[in-house]
Amino acid sequence: MLDVARIRQDFPLLRKADRGELGIYFDNAATMFKPQAVIDAVMRYYTEGSVNIHRGEYDLSYSVSEAYDAARVKVAHFINADSREIIFTSGATGSMNLVAMAYAESVLKAGDVILTLESEHASSILPLMRAAKKTGARIEYIPLAEGGRFELDAYRQALHDRVKLVAVAHVSNVLGYVLPIAKMTQLAHAVGAVMAVDGAQSVPHLATDVKAWDIDFLSFSSHKMLGPTGVGILYGKKAILDRMDPVLLGGGSNARFDRFGQLMLKETPTKFEPGTPAIEGVLGLSAAIDYLQGIGMDNVFSAEHALKERLVNGLRSMEHIVLYNADAPTGIVTFNVKGIPAQDVAFYLNANGIMVRSGNHCAKVLVDVIHTPDTVRASLAFYNTPAEVDRLIDVLRSVTLEACIAVTIA
Ligand code: PMP
Repeated sequence: MLDVARIRQDFPLLRKADRGELGIYFDNAATMFKPQAVIDAVMRYYTEGSVNIHRGEYDLSYSVSEAYDAARVKVAHFINADSREIIFTSGATGSMNLVAMAYAESVLKAGDVILTLESEHASSILPLMRAAKKTGARIEYIPLAEGGRFELDAYRQALHDRVKLVAVAHVSNVLGYVLPIAKMTQLAHAVGAVMAVDGAQSVPHLATDVKAWDIDFLSFSSHKMLGPTGVGILYGKKAILDRMDPVLLGGGSNARFDRFGQLMLKETPTKFEPGTPAIEGVLGLSAAIDYLQGIGMDNVFSAEHALKERLVNGLRSMEHIVLYNADAPTGIVTFNVKGIPAQDVAFYLNANGIMVRSGNHCAKVLVDVIHTPDTVRASLAFYNTPAEVDRLIDVLRSVTLEACIAVTIA
C-alpha cells in the first residue's frame, strides 16, 4: 500500500488541494502534477547550470552535458533500452510525427498497409494518414468489438503480408484498455511488419520493457509522467534508427558539411537532435523517473487500479450513468450522464471542485464505435485518494440537467 498522504506532501499542487485551496484533479491523462523534486531539477538548471550542452569547452558545460547524457541513460533503463536508442523530441506528438515522416514516408510503397485502431489519438493517426497519402499506402483498421474492446482474433485476421506497419496505443486515452503488446508484436513481425507503439498513456502507469516486448518504436511524453512539458521520447531499435534520415537538420547533429551540400551526420541518436534541446526539461524528466522508480511502477499500476475499481463500483449502480469502460484496468474512467451533454457535466463537476475532461479526447474516429460524440473522462493517478473518488461519486449521484444548466449559465 502506498503512503498517499506522504506522497501528496511532495506535490505543491496536492498540498494546496489538501489545504482546501484547490479542487480534486482527475485529469491526469491530460498531464500530471509535478513533484517538488522535478521542479527543483528544472530550477537547479537555471540557477546552477544554464549553459548549452555538448558545445562549450569549459567545466560548467561539461557538467551540464554529463547530467543531460545521464538522463538519456536513465530513460533507457526505465524502458529497458540502450541509451543510443533514445531520441529526445518535443513530446509524444513529435515522436510519432518522426516515425511517420522519417520512417513510414521513406519505407512505405503504394499498396502497403498501415494497420491501426479506430481508437487512436490524433497525434498518432494524423501523421500516419499523411504518410499514407504521400506514399500511396493504405490505412486499415483492426475491427473493434462492442464498446471499443480490442480482440486478438480480430487483429490476427486483420494482419496480412501487405501490412508493413502496425501502429497502436498500448493504452487508449479514452477507454484505458491495455493491449497485449508483446503478442501483437510477435504477430506483426511474423508478417514482416514493424511495430510502433504509442506509449503516452502506458509508460507513466505500468512497467515498460521494450526488449521483452520486442517493439520497434515507442513514443511517450515527459509531462504525462510527472516531468516537464516540452520533452518527448522516441525509442527506436538501433538498427532501424541507423537506416533512417532525420526530418530536421541543423547544428549539433552533423559531423561535417561543405559548401556543395555534402553532409555527414553524427551517429544515432545525435543525428535526430539538431539545435539546442529542452535541457531543463530533460533534467526534470530524469528527476521524474527517479520519483516514479522510488514508488515502483507496479505500485503505481495497482494503486491506480484500486482507485478506478472504487470509482466504477460507485457509479455502476447509478441508473443515470453510462459507463463505457468499466472493466479497463488502468485509471481512466469514461462515462456519460444520461440526457446531459458531457461538457455540461464537466462544468458542473468543476463548480463542485472536481477537474475532469469532456469531449472526444482527440480520438475522433472512435465516436463511431462507442456511438457517442462526447464523453466525460476522469483519469486517476496514484496520488489521488479514496476520499477524492468518493467525492466524485457523491457529486454524480445527485447531478441533474437543471443543476448543470444553472452552472453553465451562471
Ligand atoms: N497519444 C495518446 C494516447 C495521448 O493520450 C496523447 C496526449 N493526450 C498523445 C498521444 C499526445 O501527447 P502529447 O500531447 O504529450 O504530445
